Amino acid sequence: MTERSDTKKWGPRTNAVRAGTNRAFQETSEGLFLTSGYAYDSPDQAAARFAGEDKGYIYSRFSNPTVEMFENRLAAIEGAEWCMAAATGMAAVSSVFMCHLKPGDHIVSSRALFGSCRYVADDLCSRFNIEADFIDGTDLDAWKRAVRPETKLFFLETPSNPGLEVMDVQAIADIAHNCGAKLLVDNVFATPILQHPFELGADLVVYSATKHMDGQGRVMGGAILGNDVEWRDEFLRPFMRNTGPSLSPFNAWVLLKSLETLDLRVRAMAQNALEVAEALSPHIGHPLARVLYPFRHDHKQVDIAKRQMEGGGTVVTLDFAGDDETAQDRAFQFLRALELIDVSNNLGDAKSLATHNRTTTHHRLTEEARREQGITPGMVRVSIGLEDTADLMTDLNGALASVR
Ligand SMILES: *Cc1c(COP(=O)(O)O)cnc(C)c1O
Repeated sequence: MTERSDTKKWGPRTNAVRAGTNRAFQETSEGLFLTSGYAYDSPDQAAARFAGEDKGYIYSRFSNPTVEMFENRLAAIEGAEWCMAAATGMAAVSSVFMCHLKPGDHIVSSRALFGSCRYVADDLCSRFNIEADFIDGTDLDAWKRAVRPETKLFFLETPSNPGLEVMDVQAIADIAHNCGAKLLVDNVFATPILQHPFELGADLVVYSATKHMDGQGRVMGGAILGNDVEWRDEFLRPFMRNTGPSLSPFNAWVLLKSLETLDLRVRAMAQNALEVAEALSPHIGHPLARVLYPFRHDHKQVDIAKRQMEGGGTVVTLDFAGDDETAQDRAFQFLRALELIDVSNNLGDAKSLATHNRTTTHHRLTEEARREQGITPGMVRVSIGLEDTADLMTDLNGALASVR
């Protein structure tokens, strides 16, 4: 088994291929332990294991060797004390909310959120008498103003989906800590490769492993990472063990192998995305109103993005010009004309994918909530993959030229 002392001195790329490995037969590839249960030598051993006196596995809802390898590897890449895997990104997000908060507590959240995150922080929490304020996450004073004595959690996603707003994690962490709240960062868009929220003061980080970690469109998964072991043992672990959002060992195995190439894939995709974002400039004016990308010179928070990210991410968002109806019509014309890039609502995949967020990922929100989040009828999110940028640009230029 790789030792914790090794993973702490290794670089992230070594950790990506080595950390967490626990060999049963000196196998080179990590073992897939597709098992729900475990047998004991004796009833005495079973009793000792349940009492926590004997180390070992009990049931795969609690823990599993393959899932544990994934957790240990991701924790090492992130530089976090611990990681708990979850069945999906949303299982990870909702577990943090549900284990940490109780009736009467208050949340401050950026309003630019993934649709399902908004459901958890808003609809679900309000049913348990947990109030939330949704603010413009790029406005530091808005975070300060929203704080109440009952504030227990700050939540943000940066860059945000699909508007790619960038929030100053360090400054927001300071505000959270001044009022005794924890800062939870959804780091899906930035990935553990391009942004390190713990170094910026975050308390908890969540991922949808479905996105860049798998990155090849196969499995769902999620993860929660943190440094506070007591909090994990008191709140998160009992919640996850007893409510059951555990990651399947098969999915954990796929994700474990995917982590080996995460750095290579994400950096290559981010390089492609930067090239595409720059090369789309001639279309600004017609048919596009804007090209959004955190590392473009005209992005509103480009300075913060360059300070806290090692790359601008793998998503480029297009915003078509025109009144609402015209803009949405143009977005649809563009999507219909794409020949290489797929129309699909996933992201972080090796294959480039494009989606019209207003009518797909964010269709459940009211128009007002979408406007608040900056989601316009003309917005198309393009997740840039690993194809040749020349081919991507041929497809994008062709589709844009066909828009009337
Ligand atoms: C996809 C996504 C999630 C949810 O992840 P699932 O694996 O689909 O449950 C959460 N946050 C962001 C930013 C996402 O893109």
